Amino acid sequence: SRLSAELLKMEHISVSVRVRPLNKADQENFAWRIDGNSIVPLDSSNRDVDRTKDTKYVLDHVFGPDWTTEKIYEVTTQELVHKMVNGFNCAVLAYGQTSSGKTHTMRGTHDSPGILPLAVTEAFRLIEANESREYLIRVSYMEIYNEDINDLLAPENIKLPIKEGPHGPYVCGLREDIVISPNQVLELLRTGDANRQTGSTNNETSKRSHVIFHMVVESRAIDNKSDDAGAVLVSALSLVDLAGSKRMAKTGAEGIRLKEGASINKSLLALANVVGKLGEGALATGGHIPYRDSKLTRILQPYLGGNTKTAIICAMTPAWCHREESHITLRFAHRAK
Ligand code: ADP
Ligand code: MG
Repeated sequence: SRLSAELLKMEHISVSVRVRPLNKADQENFAWRIDGNSIVPLDSSNRDVDRTKDTKYVLDHVFGPDWTTEKIYEVTTQELVHKMVNGFNCAVLAYGQTSSGKTHTMRGTHDSPGILPLAVTEAFRLIEANESREYLIRVSYMEIYNEDINDLLAPENIKLPIKEGPHGPYVCGLREDIVISPNQVLELLRTGDANRQTGSTNNETSKRSHVIFHMVVESRAIDNKSDDAGAVLVSALSLVDLAGSKRMAKTGAEGIRLKEGASINKSLLALANVVGKLGEGALATGGHIPYRDSKLTRILQPYLGGNTKTAIICAMTPAWCHREESHITLRFAHRAK
């Protein structure tokens, strides 16, 4: 029924927008106004609502420039970390054009930790507090670049295949490290970042590849007499810093850049289709969900749909000069909702 489809879609995916502060390059010109959980385009005077774009984007949350990552984490992700520790697969994805704040949101800085360190720290805290179960935690870190999956923890592992396992698709041959502290995870991530492939600066690389961090938690009741004695519970958290979205017309790319642009667009389009179908209630109605259209969506399949919870955070700049890209981001956000 319509109602159950509505419930399913509400439970599965939350979609938020995070508008970062203006910076100098943005020329101090706002193109948007935040109005509760919606965001509306302004006209070129920056004062009135733009009537030529009769669009008002309504999301689960719209976070303005004054929101800290920590607060955004509490609203979007904290509950997912609790769910993951209790046996559900969960994912947080950062979407948006280059320099919109995806990496700031996911990784953060020393002074303003991102969702990834906050989630990892909280997961360890929850696990350590639970004395009735014993846990094994493994992490992996990979990059999808030009539809190739490369292992960031073991740089010799390149172009890894995806295989079908009993719990869905998985990346075959990907290194998984057993970890015992949040600091150990952060140290692995630093090593992984140094291993990124494209041979240009980190910022250049991050524009063109999807970076995926997985934390897999296995647990088992310590008390042998308990009901589920011996049963192993496995769940995972997927944290994804997506490649920068962009309008194809503006890239003017040739050769390798064109190929990069095409595969980025292919996977972001596939992601939009998958979350769009989920949003339409395809799970409830048995509709086809096109996970197989890209490596990104296949890897994320165990985290999208079914017994899972996903938070999509769409990063955007408030700047007038980027308003067309921001419309693209907001259309994606709207489709995902
Ligand atoms: P992306 O990963 O989307 O390309 P970044 O996260 O690298 O973008 O952000 C681009 C720049 O803007 C960086 O210098 C970053 O520190 C800054 N920035 C992004 N979001 C914020 C924010 N919410 N508050 C302050 N600075 C931000
Ligand atoms: Mg980035």
